[in-house]
This record gives sequence, C-alpha cells and structure tokens, in this order.
Amino acid sequence: MLEMRLARIPAAFVCTALLARAACAAEARTVPFGKLPDGTAIEAVELSNAHGVRVRVLTLGATIQSLVMPDRDGRPGDIVLGYATAPEYLAGTQYFGATVGRYANRIAGARFTLDGRTYVLAANEHGNQLHGGPRGFNKVVWRLGAVQSGPTAAAVLSHVSPDGDQGYPGTLRVSARFSLDEHELRVEYRAQTDKPTVVNITNHSYFNLATESGGSILDARLTIHASRYMPIDAGLIPTGELRAVAGTAFDFRNPTPIGLHIRDGRDEQIVLAHGYDHNFVLDSASGTLRPIARLEDPRSGRVLDLLATAPGLQFYSGNFLDGSVVGKSGHTYRQSDGVCLEPQVFPNSPNEPRFPSARLDPGGEYRNIIAYRLSTEGR
Ligand code: BGC
Repeated sequence: MLEMRLARIPAAFVCTALLARAACAAEARTVPFGKLPDGTAIEAVELSNAHGVRVRVLTLGATIQSLVMPDRDGRPGDIVLGYATAPEYLAGTQYFGATVGRYANRIAGARFTLDGRTYVLAANEHGNQLHGGPRGFNKVVWRLGAVQSGPTAAAVLSHVSPDGDQGYPGTLRVSARFSLDEHELRVEYRAQTDKPTVVNITNHSYFNLATESGGSILDARLTIHASRYMPIDAGLIPTGELRAVAGTAFDFRNPTPIGLHIRDGRDEQIVLAHGYDHNFVLDSASGTLRPIARLEDPRSGRVLDLLATAPGLQFYSGNFLDGSVVGKSGHTYRQSDGVCLEPQVFPNSPNEPRFPSARLDPGGEYRNIIAYRLSTEGR
C-alpha cells in the first residue's frame, strides 16, 4: 500500500520526507584529472547514485568521460567511449562525450549571413565548419561552479566565448548543468549573447550499452520517434529535403537493430555516409522535454531512453572510428563500436531558409535539455 502511494510521489520528496537518504541520495565530488601539456590542471566531477550509476564530467570540453551503470545482473560497465587522459582529449578528433558548439554539426562553406552581414567561420572539414571549428567548446577548459549532493547531485560548468570566436558574432555566455538523480543523467545547456548570433549546442557521447570495450553496437535496437530524416550530400551537409523514412533504411519508428540495413548498398544515403550520419526530424513539438529515442542492448539488458527539447536528432553510427584510437581501457575503437544520438537544431540551419532558425538575440536564452534515462530489462 505504502509502495503504491510512493510511486506517485516524486523521488526527491520521498527522500526528504522519509529521511531515507541512504537509499535515495546522489553524491557529487571533485577529483583531479591530470594536466594538459601546457600544465593546465583538469578537474573531474563525479556524480553517483545509490543504483550504481556513476558519471564523470571533465572541465576540459565539459566532457562526459565515463558513465558506469549495472547490467541486468548487477555487473557495472562503462557505457560511453572515451580516452584515459586529458591530453588525449585535447588532441583527439572524435569529440568523445564532448560538449560541442557554438554550432554542433556542419555549416556549409564555413560561412553564413545574418542581418545582411556575412560571417566567415574557421573551417575545419573540407572547407566547411564541423562542431564549432578547430577550437570549439570541446577544446576549452570550462569553469567549474556550484557542485551539490542531495536527492539530485549536480555540477554547473560555464564558459564565455568571446565576440568573434571561431568567426561567430557576439560574446556568448554558456552554461552546462550535469545532474544525476535516481533514474537519469540530465544535461542542460543554456546560452546568452550580446549580439545576434546562431547557436546549436549538444553532447557528443558515443554509447555502447554492452560497454565501451564491448565491440559492435550493430545488434543494439534503436527507436527514433521521427517520420522524416534529412538526406545529405557528399560533404555530409543536408540537402534541404525532409524525406519520409517509411520504406527506407532510415525507418526506426519501431525498435530496429542498428545493423539491419547499414550495409544496404542500394540506399545512396547509407553509401554516402558510410552508415548513418543523418539528422532526424522529430515528430513531436520541440521546446518541452519529451521522449525522442530509445537504445536497447539485448545482451546486457541495458536500456537508454533519451528525452530532449530539441527539434532534431543526429544519429551517427561511429562510421569514422577506424581502429586508430585506443580507448580508455586499452581497446581500439573500430567502425560502429559506438553510437551518437545528438539532440540539436538542424545542421546548416543558418544557410537553409527552409529549416527553423538557429538565431539567438540579446535578451533571449538558448536552451537545450537532454535527459538520459538508464534502466535494465530482463532476458
Ligand atoms: C558527425 C560526424 C562526425 C562526427 C565526429 C558527428 O556528429 O555527424 O559526421 O564525423 O561527429 O566525431
């Protein structure tokens, strides 16, 4: 009876009201994470809960460096790809777990026009800009602010990107709040500007629910609540078309193994991207936190439910992992050893009048909230 009633009461309230802190509390602690080659010290915040979930976030790039959760038999495993040391994150090109911005994904020709003025950005991929340029948010050391333990453990990181940074107009004040309660890891990005600009910030974690050294994710089942996706050109830039997923390799409206159509050589989009590297147009209205995708690993029983406020979801099947990177536990990462699910506004929006605007004005606030709900299911 008591259990039935508790089910309807928010967990945070139960923790305080019943003083059952040992069972509910989440803890935050700060630990050193080595130094960059120039001597800059990097810190890590570790958030953990009573269910064996533990996330480590670095001040370098506001990066999720590890995310440990139990499998269905209670065995802990780290479900995100990443490096062991800070210098590897600084040198790396894969954006493992990073906060990416100012503009996640691609801006064609590394330029855009706003209010009649053209801004030339720092290009870092075939004349385009990818993930905010060569010194994007993933390469800077964020300031660690408030850290708290309690029913929800949380840490806030912040960064000020100066006017003209990587070519973008306006001073952009950005914060990233990472929090962990009993059920979910939540990441909340906010930004304010002092001049009109464009913004698209997301998290670039590569998930492998069978653990980061567990090999291919192709058997994992993916659901994406999207009836349309965005075809790309040879530069991986959206063409502007919003194409129906029905009857294509892009139909993930029901749980589907990622590998089912990934070798479909008759689908020119699969061939162009070497797999999946596409933005999906989410069916439900953006702006409120709602379920957008689900990843299930039948082997370990681990399930990740993804909720977000953004209108789009970039699904990237780790196509450029080529065995040249040694991950944190000493395994190399090969193609499809991790999957990125990146909630965001549409790629190249600043150059695509058909897409919703990515504009941010002074006085306004940019927000992107992402919740990763972690659970396990039986055999
Ligand atoms: C992009 C890929 C890119 C990768 C880099 C993804 O978000 O969609 O094209 O190679 O990031 O790690």
